[in-house]
Amino acid sequence: MKEFKTESKRILDLMINSIYTNKEIFLRELISNASDAIDKLHFLSLTDSKVDNDFKIVITLDKQARKLTVSDNGVGMSVEDLEKNLGTIASSGTLAFKKENEDVKELIGQFGVGFYSAFMVAKKVEVLTKAYGSEDAYIWVSEGEEGYDIIKSEKQGYGTEVNVYLKDNEEGVDYDTYVQQYFISDLVKKYSDYIRYPIVMDMTKSRKKEGSDEYEEYTERETLNSMIPVWKKQKSELKEEDYNNFYATTFYDFEKPLRYVHANIEGSVNYTALLYFPAKAPVDFYSREFKKGLSLYCNGVLIMEKCEDLLPDYFGFVRGVVDSSDLSLNISREILQQDRQLKAIATSLEKKIISELKKMLEDDRENYEKLFEEFGATIKFGAYNNYGVKKDELKDLLMFVSGKSKKQTTLAEYVKAMQEGQDVIYYACGESLDKIDLMPQVDVVKSKGYDVLYLKDNVDEFVLKTLDKYEDKKFKSVSDKDLDLGSEEEKQEMEDKAVSNKDLTDFIKETLGDKVHAVSLTKLGSYPVCLSYEGEVSLEMEKVFKAMKTQSPMPVQAKKVLQINADHAILAKLRDLFNTDHETLKKYAKMLFVQAMLTEGFEVDDIGEYFTFVGELMIK
Ligand code: ADP
Repeated sequence: MKEFKTESKRILDLMINSIYTNKEIFLRELISNASDAIDKLHFLSLTDSKVDNDFKIVITLDKQARKLTVSDNGVGMSVEDLEKNLGTIASSGTLAFKKENEDVKELIGQFGVGFYSAFMVAKKVEVLTKAYGSEDAYIWVSEGEEGYDIIKSEKQGYGTEVNVYLKDNEEGVDYDTYVQQYFISDLVKKYSDYIRYPIVMDMTKSRKKEGSDEYEEYTERETLNSMIPVWKKQKSELKEEDYNNFYATTFYDFEKPLRYVHANIEGSVNYTALLYFPAKAPVDFYSREFKKGLSLYCNGVLIMEKCEDLLPDYFGFVRGVVDSSDLSLNISREILQQDRQLKAIATSLEKKIISELKKMLEDDRENYEKLFEEFGATIKFGAYNNYGVKKDELKDLLMFVSGKSKKQTTLAEYVKAMQEGQDVIYYACGESLDKIDLMPQVDVVKSKGYDVLYLKDNVDEFVLKTLDKYEDKKFKSVSDKDLDLGSEEEKQEMEDKAVSNKDLTDFIKETLGDKVHAVSLTKLGSYPVCLSYEGEVSLEMEKVFKAMKTQSPMPVQAKKVLQINADHAILAKLRDLFNTDHETLKKYAKMLFVQAMLTEGFEVDDIGEYFTFVGELMIK
């Protein structure tokens, strides 16, 4: 006996001991494998006339032996294939177990451990197979736990036969149901109806004997599936469950999608689309490995598994299929990219997705927020990418956190809720919502009764800069030096104070040198100082560029302004020191600057000096 690799063993353990109630899905997995195997041979048959075109999947039930068999006349497996495909799970190398009790459902979704799911219902699985073109047949057999054996055998014709020997019944689980013909035929209809090859089973039925009152049993071979792809059916024929089953089996995502769209588009270009907005981003979604795309069909025949050109990057999360009779079947990938029809479909799809997202925002806010949580970053990227060519289409899909409610808000909602006298949209940037909440300037703006958009993602501010304004309302950072919130009177008062304190602020500017662009006075509630900026480069942008560690010859730096709270007792203290003790004033200036930098989330070079000063003050 050969032992399973450690990872396979753990998966098997999970399967065997799973409390996952949806054990029935194993059948769908076996049928899907059979269908894939036939697909492969179907492909060969295009060039090899020896292949028998009578493709089918046969299900056989044996009540006595408590055995269910799924056979196919697909490519089959060689002894090496058996070893490689069934001895280890495909992705075992990359499989990282996050938690001991990882949800089986998720595992199946992420790693496609399809075949092993048979062990949810089986105490023994036997796979008899013969590869197309080979003389030799083999049996792979395992009882799940330790390992498996591969034995030379005999088989008529090529293909694979998976024999599932059912577990003994347990309390609450009656495994006998898996050899009951009506139960199985319902399962096939439920999960595998659209499989392109006939799934057949011999059904035992009874009828009245001719010329007698007695009944007799007879068997009749029935095709259980309709073979019509979901998207080709009428919407009225389909239930939400059908759409979701198709999604789960096609995309291996067992979390219910947030929304699906089934559309028949007729016009300059005709197509049917079945689109899904997933609930969760795939594990590799934000990595380079991720490939977006929709499956492309021409009249029900698959042309391309993942056609990238059908989706813009910012809707890369959308999954689904597109079927159009306007495309030519034997079109090559290269030509397809240039295809006018394909471009027309892509343009139309993009519009459809936007309108559907807008609808969702209106009629299913909760799920829209979930979607934005998962995929908002790519939509935001779409809004600012390429100098914002798509900003008008995408701006109403964006959401940011409202400082007032701490909930997601759209720009339209923000503008609608604007107060009298408020003529700009305020935003504040920071690492986290909590940190933004602590910014002195945020406090000041909020005290006026105005809401502030909290931006915690790096792209956010770039997005707003690209949009420039929303419904004629400009965006304004609360860290902008000219926050300008007071009345005319207050402004005058502040100007007077600035003039009378110019000697002091000049002195502090000189002390801090290049670290700041200017030092000025402002009103700041309870905070002694804060940092703001002048010009185009904001404080947040400086941080973003620093984090990117680009080796630009000119580091991107914000023109920082140290603002001192004119209403705070600190001003009098500084004034006092200016008149009596310049050395101590210098230390105070440096300390206040460090404080302002830290509140803004900047790293500080001379933090050591700061602590020395604090220490000195403590023992004074
Ligand atoms: P997946 O189908 O996601 O690749 P499975 O664990 O279900 O993972 O199957 C592993 C591999 O075993 C398949 O990729 C395929 O190569 C092979 N296999 C499974 N069932 C069959 C079958 N009926 N005929 C031929 N090959 C099969």
